[in-house]
Amino acid sequence: MPADFDIAIVGAGFGGALMAMIARRLDKSVVLLEKGTHPRFAIGESSTPLANLILEELSRRWDLPRIRPLAKWGTWQKTYPNLACGLKRGFSFFHHKLGEPWKYQPNHQNELLVAASPRDEIADTHWFRADVDHFLVNEAIREGCEYLDQVELESPTFEGDIVKLSGSRSGKPLRLRVRFLVDASGPQGFLHRTLKLPAEEFSTMLATQGLYSHFENVARFAELNRHDESPPYPIDDAAVHHIFPGAWIWVLRFNNGITSAGVAATDEFAKQLDFANRTKAWERLLNFIPSVREQFASAKPIREFTHTPRLSFRTSRVSAERWTMLPHTAGFVDPLLSTGFPLNLLGIERLAETIGLRNVSRFEARMEHYSRQTLSELDFTALLISALYANMGDFELFSALSLLYFAAASFSETLRRLAKTPEGFLLNEHRAFGPTARKIANAALNQPLLPAARTSLLKDISNVIEPFNIAGLNDPARRNWYPVLADDLLQNHAKLGASEDQIADVLVRCGWDSTGG
Ligand SMILES: Cc1cc2nc3c(=O)[nH]c(=O)nc-3n(C[C@H](O)[C@H](O)[C@H](O)COP(=O)(O)OP(=O)(O)OC[C@H]3O[C@@H](n4cnc5c(N)ncnc54)[C@H](O)[C@@H]3O)c2cc1C
Repeated sequence: MPADFDIAIVGAGFGGALMAMIARRLDKSVVLLEKGTHPRFAIGESSTPLANLILEELSRRWDLPRIRPLAKWGTWQKTYPNLACGLKRGFSFFHHKLGEPWKYQPNHQNELLVAASPRDEIADTHWFRADVDHFLVNEAIREGCEYLDQVELESPTFEGDIVKLSGSRSGKPLRLRVRFLVDASGPQGFLHRTLKLPAEEFSTMLATQGLYSHFENVARFAELNRHDESPPYPIDDAAVHHIFPGAWIWVLRFNNGITSAGVAATDEFAKQLDFANRTKAWERLLNFIPSVREQFASAKPIREFTHTPRLSFRTSRVSAERWTMLPHTAGFVDPLLSTGFPLNLLGIERLAETIGLRNVSRFEARMEHYSRQTLSELDFTALLISALYANMGDFELFSALSLLYFAAASFSETLRRLAKTPEGFLLNEHRAFGPTARKIANAALNQPLLPAARTSLLKDISNVIEPFNIAGLNDPARRNWYPVLADDLLQNHAKLGASEDQIADVLVRCGWDSTGG
C-alpha cells in the first residue's frame, strides 16, 4: 500500500524535531505533528556535559552542523545570540534546615559544588525551551520535514505495513498513512493514551509532585550568602538545587532576565503545602526556607504556576512492530540530576542507527534491545533518585550518593571522548558498577539507617566509585567543592584505559585549558 510518509513523529519538542532531522538524513520522508504551536513554554531546561557531547556527536554523525553550536555556551553565544539560554558551569547544592537561614560553613558540610567545565566558553547551558524548540522545528522544516501544528490525533490503526493516522487540524479533517510512527509527545503521551498502554510504577520511587514557573528579578544566591573563599565556579551560573527533607527547589538563570524555578516534593510534603493552590503553596514553601525566600524577595512569576500532581511516569511498552517512543515519552523520573536530556538524546542516537536498517530481523532485534535498554536505564535512574530523596535530611549521605551519578557521568563522558562506548547510561550495564550501585541505592532506601549501616554505605560508595573516579570526587581535602582539573584526568588516565598523551589530546580537542580550572 502506498504511504504519504515513511515516518510520522508525534510531538515537536526538541526530541521530536531532532529525530525528524536525522530521519531526513536517512532519506526518509517525514511528517512532524504537533498539537500546539511554536514558540511555546516547555519545562526541562538544564543540559549536562554528557547531553551536550551526545548532541555534538549527533550533529557530526548526521551532518547537522547548524545544531552543533548549541552544544557549548561559547559557540551558542557567537552563533545564535537571539536564542536565549543560561550559563551552566556546574551543579550547586545547598542544604537547608526548615525554618533556618542557610549559613556558609568553612568545612562546606551544607553545600556541594561539582563543576562541569573549566571555563565559560566550553560550558553547558540551560535551554530556554520556547526559543530552542522553535529553532529546532524550523531546522526540521529546513531539512525537508512536513510540519503540521494544531493537530488533534485519534487512535492510530494498523493495516499491514501501514499506520493510519486520522484526526483534525484547525478543525479540518486530517488523514495520513505512514510506515512508522515515533512518539515524542512526552510522558503519558499520544500512544500511551490512544493505545491504552498500561503504566507501571518505578518500584522504588515515592510519588512526587512538581510546582514551577518562570520568574523575573531572582537574586543571585551568592550575593546574599557570601563565601569566604572563591568557589570553583560562580555558584549561580549552574543548576542550583536547594535541598531539604522531602523536597528540593531548582533555580536556573537564563541570559534574558528570566529564571526558571520550581519545587519537586514527595506527596506528603506537597499535600502539607497544598500544591494545588499554586501561588499560595509557593509562598508557603518559601516561608520554610528563609534564605530562598530572601533570594525570591523581589521576584515575580511571569506566568501561572504549573502544578504536576504526579511527576514520575513509566510505560510498560516502548515499541512494537510499527511504532516506538523516545525515552522521555516512555518515562520520566524527576528533574534531579538533569537526566531527561541525556536519556532522550541517547535514545535518539540509538533509534537513528536502527530506523535506517533494511534487514527486518536486524531491525526487530535492535528495536527490542532499544526497548529493554530504555526501560532499564529509566529504572536505574529512578533507583538512584529514590535513594537521594530518602536521604534529603542527611546531606553527607545525600552528597556521597550523588557521587555515584557524578563519577559515572564524568567517566562515561570521557570514554566517549576517547571514542569508546560506556556501558549504558551512568554505567548501569557495567558488570561491577551497575550491580553495586543498585545494591547501595537499595540499601540507602532502608530508612531509618542505623549508624553502622550508614557508615558502611559511605565506605561502599567510596569503594565503588574509585575505579571510575577521574575527578577527585570524595577527596576530603576538597571539602565538597570539586573544580574541573586537567590534572585529575591526566593522573587517572589508566582507569580509562588510555595513555596520558591520549588524555592530553582529548583536552586539546575539547578546548580545555590544560592548566586546569
Ligand atoms: C518539572 C520538570 C523539570 C525537568 N527538568 C529537566 C532538566 O533540568 N534537565 C533535563 O535534562 N531534563 C529535565 N526534564 C525532562 C525534560 O523535560 C525532557 O527531557 C524534555 O522535555 C524532553 O523533550 P521532548 O521534546 O522529548 O518532549 P516534550 O518537551 O515533552 O515535548 C513534547 C511535545 O509533544 C507535543 N504533544 C503532546 N501530545 C501530543 C499529541 N497528542 N499530538 C501532537 N503533539 C503532542 C507537546 O505539545 C510538546 O510540544 C524535566 C521534566 C520536568 C517535568
